[in-house]
Amino acid sequence: MAVATPTFRTDAFIDGTFRPAASGARFPTENPATGQQLAEIAAGDIEDVDVAVRAARRAFNAGTWSKRSPTERKQILLAFADLLEANAEELAQLESLDAGKPITDCRDVDIPETIRTFRWYAEALDKVFDAVAPTGHDALGLIIREPIGVVGAVLPWNFPLMMAAWKAAPALAAGNSLIIKPAELTSLSTLRMAELAAEAGIPDGVLGVVPGLGETAGQALGRHMDVDALSFTGSTEVGRMFLRYSSESNLKEIVLECGGKSPQVIMGDAPDLDYVADQVLFAGFMNMGENCTCGSRLIVHRSVRDELIDKLVSKAADWPVGDPLDPATRIGPMIERPHLDKVLGYIAAGRAEGARVVVGGGRTLESSGGHFVEPTVFDDVDNSMKIAREEIFGPVISTIPFDTEDEAIAIANETSYGLAASLYTTDLDTAFRLARAIKAGTVSVNSYSEGDITTPFGGFKQSGFGGRDKGLEAFDQYTQKKTVWVTLR
Ligand code: NAP
Ligand code: MG
Repeated sequence: MAVATPTFRTDAFIDGTFRPAASGARFPTENPATGQQLAEIAAGDIEDVDVAVRAARRAFNAGTWSKRSPTERKQILLAFADLLEANAEELAQLESLDAGKPITDCRDVDIPETIRTFRWYAEALDKVFDAVAPTGHDALGLIIREPIGVVGAVLPWNFPLMMAAWKAAPALAAGNSLIIKPAELTSLSTLRMAELAAEAGIPDGVLGVVPGLGETAGQALGRHMDVDALSFTGSTEVGRMFLRYSSESNLKEIVLECGGKSPQVIMGDAPDLDYVADQVLFAGFMNMGENCTCGSRLIVHRSVRDELIDKLVSKAADWPVGDPLDPATRIGPMIERPHLDKVLGYIAAGRAEGARVVVGGGRTLESSGGHFVEPTVFDDVDNSMKIAREEIFGPVISTIPFDTEDEAIAIANETSYGLAASLYTTDLDTAFRLARAIKAGTVSVNSYSEGDITTPFGGFKQSGFGGRDKGLEAFDQYTQKKTVWVTLR
């Protein structure tokens, strides 16, 4: 395939133009497959966030976007999606270089999903109706959705462009102005996206990108007195901080999409174990396990456990680790050295607590300078072990056996998280019983899945709070309801 040369945009995108940070400061971004620096990115801080927010508010009040007709907003967002598609290969290369994601995933999943997300919200925005209350004849009660105003989005590094799209598409479709703070490790694709948005006709100020560190740029957005809502995706630990930022500033609406420790429950009557093994590895290893819905706890009925483990061991070879730009690679490097060390630390903790490594278990491809780890499967895990309790965010699956359905449900729910779950059974009653019993925002039956763009996505318990990404439900994050009560005389 022809290799498009990626364009590195390294300045903040504010009010329709690229500009360095007010302080002039920059921070490096590296290629995690080599450990080499790719570029130096403008380090936005309080002042840059403030300039971006003021531009966003100006645009919102002027109505250049917020008061455009739905049909016009739709046309511009569709043109934007077309431009993303025309530049898909370049965006895939950028994502792969900056985040270490396998190029095949970028080409087949991240970039197509990003484009689909913009198209879906563009198409949805002129088909959502408001409501009229069931009043008596002496009144008319209108329940109207209005865009919320200036929205902030603070994003993680694991699906840089897709997460930007999950926030930006519904926020812009609803008529808001939006400022994105990408993860410091992966700013490049989001900056390029903003440039394409401007080219498609999104007016100045409506979509800003302020790259920078979490404690500075992220916190500044969280504490800004003129940001009306902030949609966060990242760790539960940082998610908590945004609730504090909001409570200590202007009570901006906060939506949190946080971590997970998702169970994969395999009942004794699970369908075709070859198929199940493929799905189990996909759930655990997809995106290097750097995935909020990573199926990191394999809860398996003792009657099929040995056979399933044998299949996992042989099928692990279907997950080659290597250069992310090689189309055959399915597992790229961990995002950065400290994260590699964290994942290796969990593997060591698993061994120390008595779990048994049946696949992988070590660092690999060290001479590349990249942060590679072998995809790893543990057997003999107890749900109280550290590897079963904490989010590892690497390609590590912990196998926990069970004997009864009640036991399986108890183990699945014995976690502070509740983002996703999958379950495997050929019995319809069992499937629905478990789907009801498992406390998670998305429960997949007989596959690993996060649903699609039509279905809402978010977590129970400490996986999330305040709203949902995807589906028509995402509009609730970015709109507020106004009642207009008309007295008829
Ligand atoms: P993270 O460390 O929580 O960072 C997320 C974002 O918050 C980054 O932009 C980060 O900036 C910023 N941030 C960090 N410290 C901050 C602070 N003190 N104040 C304000 N902002 C701050 O998460 P991550 O490591 O990038 O991503 C992995 C996590 O995201 C995992 O827990 C994963 O489960 C979760 N995730 C959840 C979903 C979902 O939909 N539920 C989807 C994807 C990922 P820096 O980049 O400078 O640190
Ligand atoms: Mg990078």
